[in-house]
Amino acid sequence: MKPSVREIEARTLLRKSKRIDSWFVSSYHLNLYRGCVFDCAYCDGRSDSYGVEGDYGSELSVKTNALALLARELDPRRKRRQRSADSGSDRPADRFRRGYLLLGGGVTDTYQPLEQQYQLSRGALQLVADHPSVDFPVHVLTKSVLVTRDVDLLSRIDARSRAIVSFSFSSVDDTLAAHFEPRAPSPRRRLEAIAELTARGLRCGAYLMPALPHLSDDEAQLARTVEALREAGARFVVFSTMTLKPGRQKDHYLRTLARHDASLLEPTRTLYPLGDRWGNSQRGYSEAVTLRSAAAARRLSMPQRLPAALWSDLLDETSRVIVTLEHLDHYLRALERPSPYGRAARAIAADGRALRPARDLLGETPGGALIDELEKIRGVGPAVAKLIREMLASGRCAPYEQVLADAGAAEGASTA
Ligand code: SF4
Repeated sequence: MKPSVREIEARTLLRKSKRIDSWFVSSYHLNLYRGCVFDCAYCDGRSDSYGVEGDYGSELSVKTNALALLARELDPRRKRRQRSADSGSDRPADRFRRGYLLLGGGVTDTYQPLEQQYQLSRGALQLVADHPSVDFPVHVLTKSVLVTRDVDLLSRIDARSRAIVSFSFSSVDDTLAAHFEPRAPSPRRRLEAIAELTARGLRCGAYLMPALPHLSDDEAQLARTVEALREAGARFVVFSTMTLKPGRQKDHYLRTLARHDASLLEPTRTLYPLGDRWGNSQRGYSEAVTLRSAAAARRLSMPQRLPAALWSDLLDETSRVIVTLEHLDHYLRALERPSPYGRAARAIAADGRALRPARDLLGETPGGALIDELEKIRGVGPAVAKLIREMLASGRCAPYEQVLADAGAAEGASTA
């Protein structure tokens, strides 16, 4: 199917998140296209909240001025950029010391088939690879095997600042995927691309995002998925359940599901209560999937989050604390253990005081001033504050290392 294409001019490109995203360990992302011809039935980008005009799966907007914009936004001489430098440092590269630049996700897949013609993703990678002063680590998230075309640039970025390529899946079953991801490369081809990139020295991961309710979320399917990813060479697999926001996204998914197996309509509707504007599934369901998927990952010693070895040296202290606490929270919950860490991480991220670079708060007494500030933040508490003090002093987090060992995911446990 030939998509209808609209060439547009964007006003800005590089988006900075308010806080570090611990799922992708990114603080910046960019979308070079809008809409996605892979047309996955569950795609969140289709939901009304993103305001992508037209038919999401067959109309593609191309940001034709994207590379000129990106070159300007990466320019270290820009005054505005220096004013907003959150590190407080004059060095332009310091502005970016808060995680990966995420290419993909959101409202498109960055390797649309038309990327062959427009070469915007390649151009963006080229700008990052050639930049004279910004060592920007890059995390690509895609379903497309076209990413293998850019292995030369990704390898250059990896040598300089690090690059990861992650593939997203909703299952590794080609037949199921042909129905629910009708124009995306098959899971088999994505697995081959992981093997190819891994053989060429790049680190790859996977996102089972989402596991499809009643279709790819049972124990056997999850085990098969982790096994296939492990065999292909993926270094980690992050799981999530599906969200179904009311309106375009939910209607489209249910129509597609009805064509596949109408008997699943009612059980699926039951999981997604009416009135939840974010489209979350019932809590009990998402918790059960988390436990099942974590068990499948544990059996093969597969990390369920990006291993610390891939990010700990890329982050400022505060971001490192937030990511460590959120990962720790996930692993504890997946082992059905209590955790105060997720709440504390959210509280720190939401509090302006803690977003100041830790080194500004340390003063004469390493850790002391930061702890004073942290203990005032509702949701942190003395025990977590003490743990953060230890992390800042030693660069390690003992409970995190322990829980990774328990989960069989100890690769690169040190947050130093
Ligand atoms: S590939 Fe990603 S962005 Fe594209 S339709 Fe599928 S889920 Fe959405």
